[in-house]
Amino acid sequence: MLIVYLIIAVLAVLLLLVLIAVVKTVLTPAKKSEWRPVPDPEREQLYAQKLSEMIRCETVSYKDVDRREKFLEFHRLLEILFPLVHSKLEKTEIDGNLLYFWKGKSSEKPLVLMSHQDVVPAEGEWIHGPFSGDIADGKVWGRGSGDIKCNVMGFFQAVEELIAEGYEPDQDVYLSSSCTEEVGGDGCPKLVNELKRRGVRPYLVCDEGGAIVESPLKGMDGYYAMVGILEKGMGNLKLSAKSNGGHSSTPSKNSPIARLSKFVCDFEKHQPMAIEFEPEVKEMFKKLSAYGPFHYRLLFGNLWLFAPLLKKLLPAISPDAAALLRTTVAFTMQTGSEASNVIPQEATLTVNLRYIPHQGLEASNAVISEMAKKYDVDVEVLSAYDAMPPVNTGSDAYHLVESVIGEVFPGLPVCPYVMTGGTDARFYQEICDACIRFGPVTYSPDQMISMHGLNENIDCSSLTGAVDFYKTVIRYNT
Ligand SMILES: [Zn+2]
Repeated sequence: MLIVYLIIAVLAVLLLLVLIAVVKTVLTPAKKSEWRPVPDPEREQLYAQKLSEMIRCETVSYKDVDRREKFLEFHRLLEILFPLVHSKLEKTEIDGNLLYFWKGKSSEKPLVLMSHQDVVPAEGEWIHGPFSGDIADGKVWGRGSGDIKCNVMGFFQAVEELIAEGYEPDQDVYLSSSCTEEVGGDGCPKLVNELKRRGVRPYLVCDEGGAIVESPLKGMDGYYAMVGILEKGMGNLKLSAKSNGGHSSTPSKNSPIARLSKFVCDFEKHQPMAIEFEPEVKEMFKKLSAYGPFHYRLLFGNLWLFAPLLKKLLPAISPDAAALLRTTVAFTMQTGSEASNVIPQEATLTVNLRYIPHQGLEASNAVISEMAKKYDVDVEVLSAYDAMPPVNTGSDAYHLVESVIGEVFPGLPVCPYVMTGGTDARFYQEICDACIRFGPVTYSPDQMISMHGLNENIDCSSLTGAVDFYKTVIRYNT
């Protein structure tokens, strides 16, 4: 009997808490994203033309392939498109990677504006050729239009215009652009080493990552500035299972491929990685959901009550949401024997992990190793780096970016963003506490998919905002 009373009491308390959450949500009306792109045909045309020319230079990067000539061709184009930048700023080129220095009145708070020059290869059938740079239907089309030559055009043009206006920066400004981002190469580290050699410690680094995203969650209208403040780590592990091999006509049980397969099935079934809301993820959901429909506001606006439920629900319904809550594990490459009738002496499986702070590199790798032991599988770490420390949203540098967005894009909600992918900015974290991942251009849900995919494009109307954002950041940094 006592147990029944206890259950009733617990249910009553729960119901009361849900009621409080519902009333709180009803009494707090949904906020509205007010900003919309403002047309400015003359400037759009000029910027779209420059971006178009940049796209036509095929700066595709491949791992372990030297394409320096192609990048030097791109640099020559930059000289033509942005002559004042090249007459006023001091340029350093290191193996195709670029660093420009614009001397300010003070060197106390150096600013780094950066984005990569390289793009991923383009396959498949495109509406407009991937390196055509076509301008049609109010968009610039081609590989790199969205990722991320739009930003490179944006900050070069910003400096070009400021120089033309006779402006001199209060603080030192650096423009930085690697040619190896898409292959995870050592271009950006070379630029960071050069800055270290010069004793430069940036006050703010502004790279790609977040952006102005249209409808970031289903059922949410309008645009949102998603400002990247945390980036997950990444590791590649090689799992190998060994045997004496043999002829496939007399197979024995537990061959290397069978053991690796059992490991994968066990992992997929039990999903052993820990699920938690990082403080930054909580902040992101809370801020964003305030603009969403009732159920978003109820659930994400009251994480004090619904977090345990959402931890169960979200990974089951959305891989994107799951990636925000735990270290992800993807099985990406496999090897076996060389012939169809040979049992391999060794089979391997490559595992790609994206580490989350609450279960970082060591702890996540330990989970894999522990499970691998069960199937007599060896684990080798091929490469790994841990999650990066987050940018403090209470810091002056974050507030600067927030203020600039407020001025350039009035009415646009600013929301911290947790990145599940990697950027070059992580290399700058060694010398800078505020590496903000935010590219000031707009992406629709389709445009998000088109990056690294088919028919990549960007709206011409979003290029003016990009130039204005970079000009305003330089002016704000006093
Ligand atoms: Zn990119």
